[in-house]
Amino acid sequence: MEREWTTGWCWRCEASDVPVLWVGPVQSLEYGEAPIYFCLPCIRRLEALIVAHHRA
Ligand SMILES: [Zn+2]
Repeated sequence: MEREWTTGWCWRCEASDVPVLWVGPVQSLEYGEAPIYFCLPCIRRLEALIVAHHRA
């Protein structure tokens, strides 16, 4: 999956018209898979959580 910045809506903080990056599919209980996009501050937070996960 290519990871190119586009302008759009962040699925975490709901900022609109910001640069966003695809961070992976999200699983809905009822509607299957959807692509999820985060803005840069949210990606930084996500990366911190991933680091914490791998250290746990
Ligand atoms: Zn965001």
